[in-house]
Amino acid sequence: MSRVEIVCHKGANEYAPENTYAAARRCIEWGVDYVEIDVNLSRDGVHYILHGPSVEQTTNGRGNFYDLLSSEIDALDAGSWFHADFAGERVPRLEPFLRWIKGKAKVFLDVKRANLRELIALIYALELQDECFFWFGNDADARAFRQLDAKLALKINVATVADVVRADEVYRANLVEVALKDLSQPLVDECRRRGLRIMVYHPHKDPGAFRQVLRWGVDLINLDHGDLFMQVAAEFAADASAQTAPPLPPRAKRVVLFMLDGCRPDALEAAHTPVIDRLRREGAWTAQARTVMPSITLPCHTSLFYSAHPEQHGVTTNDWTPPHPPLPSLIEVIGDSGYGTAAFYSWEQLRDMAPPGTLDTSVYRRYSEQAFEELGRAAASEIARQRPTFAFVYLEATDATGHRYGWMSPAYLQAVAKSDRIIGQVVDALAAVGELDETVCMVMADHGGHDHGHGTEQPEDMTIPWIAWGAGLRRNHRIQGPVHITDVAPTVLYLLGIPIPEQWQGQVIGEILAERPAVSPILGSMMSDPRMSDSAASSSMISSQNV
Ligand SMILES: [Zn+2]
Repeated sequence: MSRVEIVCHKGANEYAPENTYAAARRCIEWGVDYVEIDVNLSRDGVHYILHGPSVEQTTNGRGNFYDLLSSEIDALDAGSWFHADFAGERVPRLEPFLRWIKGKAKVFLDVKRANLRELIALIYALELQDECFFWFGNDADARAFRQLDAKLALKINVATVADVVRADEVYRANLVEVALKDLSQPLVDECRRRGLRIMVYHPHKDPGAFRQVLRWGVDLINLDHGDLFMQVAAEFAADASAQTAPPLPPRAKRVVLFMLDGCRPDALEAAHTPVIDRLRREGAWTAQARTVMPSITLPCHTSLFYSAHPEQHGVTTNDWTPPHPPLPSLIEVIGDSGYGTAAFYSWEQLRDMAPPGTLDTSVYRRYSEQAFEELGRAAASEIARQRPTFAFVYLEATDATGHRYGWMSPAYLQAVAKSDRIIGQVVDALAAVGELDETVCMVMADHGGHDHGHGTEQPEDMTIPWIAWGAGLRRNHRIQGPVHITDVAPTVLYLLGIPIPEQWQGQVIGEILAERPAVSPILGSMMSDPRMSDSAASSSMISSQNV
């Protein structure tokens, strides 16, 4: 595994005033690869290092940088605003700074304002052409730069595969910068095909995200917390050498989990569900997945989100008690990895499926027939707008009508059909913004039901449907092996390329994957697991069809 090069954003800006010698010196001491500097131009045409446009945030001066003469800028104090210890710091002039840093660290020039010809000439005069790259916030400057010079390395920011194509073909970029949340296998593949280096920008103090960057094996990371990253990278390297297996490549950019509360598998046969029918036809599915006892909403959801049996998580009623010892929740793990999460729900107790503060978007509407439709519309529009990496869409109508009118009653089957329409709205909304191709949709229930209730160990209560549809998954495949509700969370993480917590009890449902990597440790263990290879095991499972 090649090392990820570290780019220190504005120098060690947490420990010293940004864009000064002091900040650069600190990150050179750490041993980072690149120091990022902002290039600006004085009124009399001298290049300096300062973010700007105003000098007020980082010096004792007033006004805009480009209105000041070099004689005025040289007199500014660029350190006191940060701490009295830095009182002597000046706004560095670019040329002496580059002479000083040459051989100590490479340079990323974020050009705010410059005389492009002079700047390019300076780089060649100092023989820094192989030790720097450029970025221009202003598109016209980026184009002009490329016109003037075909060789110096240019960085372009991207979020999609189409952006990567444009970066290469329009700007002849040498590297691209991408946010961690936008990183996907197709994007990485496109960069590799075109010989573009990949830099992730992640300014947050976030060990989980840093590990994710290391797993992706990108070329550079642009960050504010170089010291923390180096520590995480050292741990990661030690772990990697201790592991027998290589990290697994992520497969999906997003997972949307649709939860039809109390939906029996045979209800999907009986009700009008064109969307679910399509997901099944084009995906992998089973009508024989199993939930946990007691087969009621909160224990089942806790088993889903914490990948644990009730004996382990301790939630055996619809009253929440935190798992003891603590367990990580699916939403928390995804959030800690630096990804966006969203939940749409109508039953308040489900708030504990995400520990406080771990969910980026949470939409709650107390259940009613009208609120059900509103929640569906909110899920469709918000998921398409915010594009979270994981979204949970809880659909309560099935359970509510089951209790009131009976499981498998006409009203209950109508609720299944209404839920199907909401799934269709979300899928269509994602398709409309071009995000469906990299999304995996899962459809499932927490438990089944019979008569006017559930909670027993009877097959009608314990058997649930589970469907997984999307890129990289098998199509029109009826899953032969067993699927348990505790397997869903590890499968979601596997698809997103996020490490699975050791405490979790479920297994990755490897059978849904279209292409099986030859040396995948998880699949290896799945396939040697007798419950995966023995298809007779599934016939011993209780089927809802025969009750
Ligand atoms: Zn219920």
